[in-house]
Amino acid sequence: MKAIVNGALVTPREVLYGKTILFGETVEGIADSAAPLPADVETVDARGGFVLPGFIDLHVHGGGGYDFLDGDPGAIDAILRLHAAHGTTALFATTLTCPDAVLFAGVERLAAAIGRGSPADGSALLGIHLEGPWLSPSNVGAQAVAGERTPTACELDRLLALSAGTIARIDAAPELSSGIDLLSAFASEHGILLSVAHSAANAETTLAAYEKGFTHITHLYCSTTTEHKEGQTVHAGIVEAAYLNDGITVELIGDGKHIPRETMLLCFKIKGAEKVALVTDAMRAAGTDDRTSILGEKTTGTPVLVEDGVAKLRDRSSFAGSVATMDVCFKTALRYGVPLPDAARSCALTPAEIAGVADKRGSLDVGKVADVLIFDSDFNLQSVFIKGKRIR
Ligand SMILES: [Zn+2]
Repeated sequence: MKAIVNGALVTPREVLYGKTILFGETVEGIADSAAPLPADVETVDARGGFVLPGFIDLHVHGGGGYDFLDGDPGAIDAILRLHAAHGTTALFATTLTCPDAVLFAGVERLAAAIGRGSPADGSALLGIHLEGPWLSPSNVGAQAVAGERTPTACELDRLLALSAGTIARIDAAPELSSGIDLLSAFASEHGILLSVAHSAANAETTLAAYEKGFTHITHLYCSTTTEHKEGQTVHAGIVEAAYLNDGITVELIGDGKHIPRETMLLCFKIKGAEKVALVTDAMRAAGTDDRTSILGEKTTGTPVLVEDGVAKLRDRSSFAGSVATMDVCFKTALRYGVPLPDAARSCALTPAEIAGVADKRGSLDVGKVADVLIFDSDFNLQSVFIKGKRIR
């Protein structure tokens, strides 16, 4: 068993001083610092820093030079190790719109990786996240969406079989001309989170989609809509729908590039940290010094630039994902003025709740997996423990 001493414990509600956290593979207890420690405990000194639960990233495509769709043996584990070293102890592996053969092979490989389990020094793989291909051609961002493509029973069944039931989240545009009711029934039957993404929907369509199970919004403000005119009628957009309906959860790309300070603060003010998850939406160049990269699978993806700390399409018409890791997202939120417990909640407990794993992860409550981070007093990540084992 280990005990972290001399650190302030960050809970989803407050910062606790004068406490020691005790853990093996799971959290064993929170003790008063003045109380004597059990004899066989290994002490870890947090040196006056902060102790947080491991971060959970609901939207991540790659990192360390790899994309989750790459066929190279070792690609998936390399991404999991890169993000774990930056504080992400669990994640969804995100795919994007790509040729069917690439998607199907990628889903099959990810399912196998989930089956065999993550390396001991890598993030846990909570499931597969399909970002597309059923997106709006008029709000594609950097996704390679040529025309409208709608879900069919045949391809959903194929994906379900290839994934061996490991698809945890599907992102789609709810205004597509067909297939949304089918997708809704499929997601409900298989316990899959549905999210509005890369969509030109107005608020009415978004709120109707919520009733069909679309409870989450993918990277709010990025390839979403706000108030706009359709013909001679003014409509509210996805952003207003997300603010109006308390049941809707949202995610913000926390890299400090996609979302300005005032927008992030407004979102936290209206939704509260309980409904806002910070995500990286990281692409393969995260954790590298690469100046050029590829968005998506390496042989069929889109060539992109990396400059000013963000990936961009080569004509600079759109961002093409972030190169951030979760420690950066956390620090960005703090720099913007989000209170410490809220920033920590949005990186850990809120995404755990959205992913349906809050019974085991997302906070340092007794009995949960001992995924623990230590930050120094300037919020630089110092140590990472996964299931109680130090990996950084
Ligand atoms: Zn994405």
